Amino acid sequence: MDTQLKAETAPYLSLRGVRKRFGQFEALKGIDLDIPPSSFVCFLGPSGCGKSTLLRAIAGLDRQDTGSIHQAGRDISHLPPGERDFGIVFQSYALFPNLTVAENIGYGLVNRRVPKAERQRIVDELLSVVGLPGSGGKFPNQLSGGQQQRVALARALAMEPGLLLLDEPLSALDARVRLRLRAEIRDLQRRLGITTIMVTHDQDEALTMADLIVVMSDGKIEQIGSPQAIYRRPASLFVADFVGSMTAARGMVFEPGAVVCGRQVLHVPTGALRGPVQLRLRPEALALCAGGDQPNRLTGTVAAVTFHGPGVQVEIDCGLDHDVPLRLDLGHHALAGCDLRPGAAIAVTVPPDAVHLFAEPTA
Ligand code: ATP
Repeated sequence: MDTQLKAETAPYLSLRGVRKRFGQFEALKGIDLDIPPSSFVCFLGPSGCGKSTLLRAIAGLDRQDTGSIHQAGRDISHLPPGERDFGIVFQSYALFPNLTVAENIGYGLVNRRVPKAERQRIVDELLSVVGLPGSGGKFPNQLSGGQQQRVALARALAMEPGLLLLDEPLSALDARVRLRLRAEIRDLQRRLGITTIMVTHDQDEALTMADLIVVMSDGKIEQIGSPQAIYRRPASLFVADFVGSMTAARGMVFEPGAVVCGRQVLHVPTGALRGPVQLRLRPEALALCAGGDQPNRLTGTVAAVTFHGPGVQVEIDCGLDHDVPLRLDLGHHALAGCDLRPGAAIAVTVPPDAVHLFAEPTA
C-alpha cells in the first residue's frame, strides 16, 4: 500500500486488549478499539459499564493492568498523564475558584513558560472561540454553569492537545444549555479537527454528536459504528434496548422469513435464527391506517394515545405475545382520517426494517 495512504488511514488512537481491575472487580474486560484522526467518538453505555475508566486509561489517570494504547503511532501505554498529549473536561467544571477566567485558561501555559503577551493572545483567542469574549477578568462564580463549562473547554484546548477527552461534560447543565453546548462543541471540534472522545450515558447526545459511537456494557464493547448504523442495525439485544425505545416482545421462528408473535405473523428476514427470539419494533417506523393489501398488516384496537408536542404516541392492542401493546410514534400529519378513540379498530403496517430480531438470551 502507498505509505501516504497508509498514514492517512492509520487510526489516531489504537487500543489493544486493555483490561482494568479494581480489586476483584473487572471494570474493563479486554478493549480493542481504533479511533480515526479528527473524529468525534462517544463512549455510550449505562452507569458503571466502564466508560469513564476507559477514558481515564487513555489519559493515564487509571493505568490499565494489561494491554496497549498508541496515540499517533506512539506507545503511550506506560506514560504518566503529564507526558501524554490530551486535554480533558470533566462533568464538574473543576475551575480554580480563586483565579480569573483568563488565569484558569492560561494556567497550563504559565507552567509551560509561555511569555505573558503570547499567553494573553492565546487566552483572548480561546475566549472568542468558546463564545465568551471579554470575560477573562471574571471569576468562575460570576459565570453560569454553561459558561463555566466553556471556560473548562478553553482551558483544555489552550495547550493545543492532539486529543480532547470529555467526561460527561454536559450532564450537570440544564436541558436548554445542554442542547446549545452540544452544537457548539461539535462545531468547534469540526473547525479545529481535533480528535475527541466524549463519555455519555445519553443516547440522544451520542446520536446527535458522534461520528462514531462505541456502545459499552459490563466492561466490554457491544458495538462500534456510526450513529445511523447503531440506530438502524443494533448488533445485539443490549444495543437495541439501550439505543432508542422500542416495543419489546417474544416470538418464534418456525420457518425462515416469518416470525410468530402472539396471534400475529410478521414476514421479515430471519437469517440463521430459529426457535425463540426477541423482537424489537421501532415505533417511528410503523404506519397507521394501512390499506388491505399491505404486507405485514396487523389489525387491532386503539389502547391509548399520548400527545407529546411534535407528535403523538399511539398504543395498539393487536395480540402480540403477552398482549404487549404495539407502540407507534407518529407526526400529526400521519393521523389524518384515523379514528383514534380508545377501542376503535385500527390497522398498522410493519415494514420489515422496523423489526429487529435477536436470539432469545440463554442465561
Ligand atoms: P458512570 O457513568 O456511572 O460514571 P461509567 O460507565 O463511567 O459509569 P466507570 O466510572 O468507568 O463507569 O466505572 C466502572 C466500574 O468500575 C463501576 O462499577 C465502578 O464502581 C468501578 N470503579 C471505577 N473506579 C473505581 C475505583 N477507583 N475503585 C473501585 N471501583 C471503581
